[in-house]
Amino acid sequence: MADMVVVRKEGLYCVPGDFYIDPWRPVERAVITHAHGDHARWGHRHYLASSPSVNILKSRLGADINIEGLDYGERIVRNGVTISLHPAGHVLGSAQIRMEHQGEIWVASGDYKVGPDSTCAPFEPVRCHTFITESTFGLPIYRWDPQQDVFDDINAWWRANAAQGRASILYGYSFGKAQRLLSGLDPSIGPIVCHGAVEPLNRVYREGGVALPPTQLVSETDKADFKHAIVLAPPSASGSTWTRRFGDYSDAFASGWMLLRGARRRRGVDRGFVLSDHADWPGLLEAIRATEAQQVIVTHGSIPVLVRWLCQIGLDAKGFDTEYGEEDDESAEAAPAPAPASATTPAPGDEEEDEDRREEVKPAAPGEEAKDA
Ligand SMILES: [Zn+2]
Ligand SMILES: [Zn+2]
Repeated sequence: MADMVVVRKEGLYCVPGDFYIDPWRPVERAVITHAHGDHARWGHRHYLASSPSVNILKSRLGADINIEGLDYGERIVRNGVTISLHPAGHVLGSAQIRMEHQGEIWVASGDYKVGPDSTCAPFEPVRCHTFITESTFGLPIYRWDPQQDVFDDINAWWRANAAQGRASILYGYSFGKAQRLLSGLDPSIGPIVCHGAVEPLNRVYREGGVALPPTQLVSETDKADFKHAIVLAPPSASGSTWTRRFGDYSDAFASGWMLLRGARRRRGVDRGFVLSDHADWPGLLEAIRATEAQQVIVTHGSIPVLVRWLCQIGLDAKGFDTEYGEEDDESAEAAPAPAPASATTPAPGDEEEDEDRREEVKPAAPGEEAKDA
């Protein structure tokens, strides 16, 4: 049987359904897995996305985009292809796309994680014949600690800084990561202050029914209060003059890449907290197994390593070259350091970026900075 989804120059294309999945060039019909910049681009004539994604997409791409929302599990038919969206556990509104045509079922994962996250619906395994999976952290070295341990470490760091009268600046991408971090902070330690790029997304989350602790903007905070505050900011604010207002501070970066010592060093921050919104290696394998798919197609990340592994366990696996994680020209600079020698080393250029990294150079951040100043 011919592949239901193929790669075209515009993006992943569902042949019988005549629509694209997270296309990177403007198309007629786009089905969007989630609102991160490398998956949800501007310029499509029609967007279909999960209901919780609609407001996020409008806030990022413009209120006038032509968009239709679909509840998780709800089905619609396009050219004989039944489409439904299922939680991917990545960020608010993130969805896997299930496509059924003449008894054949394909699922495109978008980005996903299988670990806990109180700020979005948990990953739902969907049985299918073919599963298109991401592989951002598709190397055996990537294994995440329990989320609560990471939150405990972050709160302990914040508490220690506050005790010494020093601000804590925590960098994390403004959509998804920042809200997940927020959900784990202990507000009894001190005020939680948010950068102007983060706060509008907090608002969207709260409107979507996600409980977050109280936050305030930098501009709403007395200078004296910074001494025991934690400040959530996008990575682009790191090293900028924006940080001067906080006086004495300690800074940290929260990302899956912080597992690599080189990445932490390059960031030039005091601390690195390993927290990712992507599945780690065991998570990828667990998710793939749960779909019961016989064919697996691997996209952005460690494609050759994961494909080889899946073939070895008897699955029919191959890779798709996509443009996810390559939205900007910053990738070379921010690319993770080479994996330690103990790891299976992927071919050069196979290490992709956390999609979250794309957030860093979004014009929104510096613009908001000015507003917030
Ligand atoms: Zn993403
Ligand atoms: Zn991605």
